[in-house]
Amino acid sequence: MSPLLTSAYSPDTFRQQGHALIDLLADFLADAQAGNQPPLHYREPDDELAFWQRDFEQPTNPDPAAVWKNLLTHSIQLHNPRFMGHQVSAPLPLSALTSALTSLLNNGQAVYEMGMAGNALERLLTRWLAGRLGLGPEAGGLMTSGGTLANLTALLTARALKAPTDVWADGSTDRLAIMVSEEAHYYVDRAARIMGLGSAGIIKIPTNDRFQMQTALLGPYLKQAQADGLTVFAVIGSACSTSTGSYDALTAIADFCEQHNLWFHADGAHGAVAALSDTYRPLVRGIDRADSVVVDFHKMMMMPALVTAVLYRRDADAFRTFQQKAQYLWADASSPDWFNSGKRAFECTKLMMSAKVYTALKTYGEALFTEYVEAQYGLARQFAEHIAGQTDFEIAVQPESNIVCFRYIGATVSPDRINELNSAIRQAMLTDGQFYIVQTSLRGHTWLRVSIMNPLTTLDHLKQLLDAVRQLGIGLIRQYGM
Ligand SMILES: *Cc1c(COP(=O)(O)O)cnc(C)c1O
Repeated sequence: MSPLLTSAYSPDTFRQQGHALIDLLADFLADAQAGNQPPLHYREPDDELAFWQRDFEQPTNPDPAAVWKNLLTHSIQLHNPRFMGHQVSAPLPLSALTSALTSLLNNGQAVYEMGMAGNALERLLTRWLAGRLGLGPEAGGLMTSGGTLANLTALLTARALKAPTDVWADGSTDRLAIMVSEEAHYYVDRAARIMGLGSAGIIKIPTNDRFQMQTALLGPYLKQAQADGLTVFAVIGSACSTSTGSYDALTAIADFCEQHNLWFHADGAHGAVAALSDTYRPLVRGIDRADSVVVDFHKMMMMPALVTAVLYRRDADAFRTFQQKAQYLWADASSPDWFNSGKRAFECTKLMMSAKVYTALKTYGEALFTEYVEAQYGLARQFAEHIAGQTDFEIAVQPESNIVCFRYIGATVSPDRINELNSAIRQAMLTDGQFYIVQTSLRGHTWLRVSIMNPLTTLDHLKQLLDAVRQLGIGLIRQYGM
């Protein structure tokens, strides 16, 4: 072996670099969690690119620590208690260590012996989670790379089982359609278009004042779709929605799907985890009747991206999704064996994602997830209560999950400039960096939005956030005379 390759694969070097990395990461974690620094040192995209371009042009350095340090300082800190933006977990530190292990193993999962432990754990964990959701004795599922792909996978299964013709074999001859709340995640739109449904095939059901699907409209919308020559094959319930964290009435959707022989898919990417809490389980009532459910472990279950479960009420349904023969991979390409991941998952090579969840469960127990969801959902309610006591703020809707949408209305702001003002506040916050929050648009109005993902975030941090928003708002009003 060449000296370069020998040194690159040396266990001793690995050990030494590994110790250095863990020290670096532990220091990073301590610093981020203390919240001494802003969660984000924002740089314009071209400046960021120029920084790395200059770095790239430097000679190689046998010590990777310099690169690691740059990566750490040029990235947003999800473990900072003042990170409260997008719905991405502040990963459980243990899961980062397990990620290192699975990266080194690089077992690809598609074929059983290329991922023995991973495939077995995937089986075990999907059944465990399906059990917690009450999906029944025949339930099972698989893991895949993210909620977007998981939802597409479930919708492909739905089409295979509910469409009047075999689209996989013959292409689409019917004008197929799905029904979904107008508040659903943009992945639905993308998935539907990938499946060839087109704009007409995505039927958006209006929402009520709590941003939940108006399930009473499912009947009339189905009738209209049929009159338009469409064949609806699935209804998607959000548990919960992305913008406001609202839970659709899943029982009503289940009833409707049963009555009309439609596939009931529940998008629980963010909020299905409520099923692990006695307090919040009522939010997902009816999820046990779904034909398929998606759960992101990298949202509300503290895993690093990407770890997602697609669960089926009838595990066997999953073998209908990709009815494709790959003789070179499997001795019997058509047999429904649970242990060859590639038969049911979109991916061929796939991350050994189950190991991260399993290590967390074995180390901390299920209570870890229960305590987490209860703390985060509870804090969102406290924050909403605090906002209700401020005359210069309003909330969009009482939070059902850990997502809160609110906005600054000041005392003197003219109503037609509130959107503009809140957009400006969010932009100022991004560059000021003290807190990381995002914005969302609800029925044409701009709202500030927090997802309280970090278990270290407290009510005090949220009160400070409100003060910071207020100060920015007052400054902007003064500057621009809103
Ligand atoms: C995040 C999210 C998705 C997309 O999942 P990714 O893992 O980001 O691909 C889909 N649906 C809902 C409700 C989500 O919150």
